[in-house]
Amino acid sequence: MLTVNAYGANSATEPLVPLTIERRDVGPRDVLIAIRYAGICHSDIHTIREEWGPIAFPQVVGHEIVGEVTEVGSEVTTHAVGDRVGVGCMVNSCGECDQCRAGEEHNCEQGNIQTYASLDRDGTITQGGYSTHVVVDEHFVLKVPESLPYEAAAPLLCAGITTYSPLARWGAGPGMKVAVVGMGGLGHMAVKIAVAMGADVTVLSRSTSKKDDALAFGAARHVATGDEGALETLQGSFDLIINTVSASLDMDAYLATLRPHGSLVNVGAPPQPLPVSVFSLIVGGKSFAGSNIGSIAETQEMLDFCAEHGISPETELIDASQINEAYDRVLASDVRYRFVIDTATL
Ligand code: NAP
Ligand code: ZN
Repeated sequence: MLTVNAYGANSATEPLVPLTIERRDVGPRDVLIAIRYAGICHSDIHTIREEWGPIAFPQVVGHEIVGEVTEVGSEVTTHAVGDRVGVGCMVNSCGECDQCRAGEEHNCEQGNIQTYASLDRDGTITQGGYSTHVVVDEHFVLKVPESLPYEAAAPLLCAGITTYSPLARWGAGPGMKVAVVGMGGLGHMAVKIAVAMGADVTVLSRSTSKKDDALAFGAARHVATGDEGALETLQGSFDLIINTVSASLDMDAYLATLRPHGSLVNVGAPPQPLPVSVFSLIVGGKSFAGSNIGSIAETQEMLDFCAEHGISPETELIDASQINEAYDRVLASDVRYRFVIDTATL
């Protein structure tokens, strides 16, 4: 066992505090990673505050991890000491079901083992990336391309893949009109990736405060949805909507902005239901869908795509002591656009 410094919570209602956690011994197929940076995802907050349901405490979250390999197990073939690597939202799966065999680990029939707050196959509860080290099965470790700035690579491991995957699946590209709802951590990556794929991108954000940024990221237009009648003026406009919002919205109003046969794909995961009138789908034959992170192979594809297109998240580097303040600022949408923790301060 390796005892490592971390930052986590002892209950859903208390602030995060410095603590230590145990990492397992490096097994034959394991990689030990010295974590350099960890991004803060809104899912970390939903989870640690038990908005999605009860979890075990103490708990360390964080699933946007980058660092260096410092030790490998005897059977490891894909990573070596010194490699720049990343770990995203999952660290294990059964490896045997049809989904795992098809390279769809995130859809594992027994449920993928998430990077934190998940019951691992050895019976322990997984602990996340707000820590100095992590031990992960080599299959779930990604290669971070040399040209991606280290600190900026971290948010790609969740915000990047979660938006890349539905954009790729629904065919974002030239001639396609894509709207991104909510421009936070996921939303700003959705904009940059959809633009790089060649789509015509509209940002639907509550106010005009992020308009200049949206246009700088390559969006063709920005609409402030808080303005009276804003969505009505967009009726029948989009082929694809990626909804990244962490709260429940009036889905019927957004479905009305789709063209016939358009799709609204939810990646935002509010604890509350998203009510939809079936007539919003029947009229125009529209689809209402969801998307959950992406496979390991697709995550590597996304990292390589971002390196090739020079896409990096916008980040604000913080010390561990600023994590609680950062949570408040995420909830107030006062982040441009992802907080990244310097784990040397843990
Ligand atoms: P974030 O940085 O907080 O961004 C969310 C954005 O949604 C905000 O910046 C804001 O954009 C908008 N928003 C927030 N509250 C709103 C409200 N009450 N009404 C309307 N708009 C609101 O969060 P994130 O890290 O990008 O995560 C977004 C969601 O995705 C979370 O629910 C998270 O758990 C989920 N998630 C899902 C997956 C998956 O696999 N499906 C993976 C990761 C995260 P504007 O200021 O532009 O309006
Ligand atoms: Zn996340």
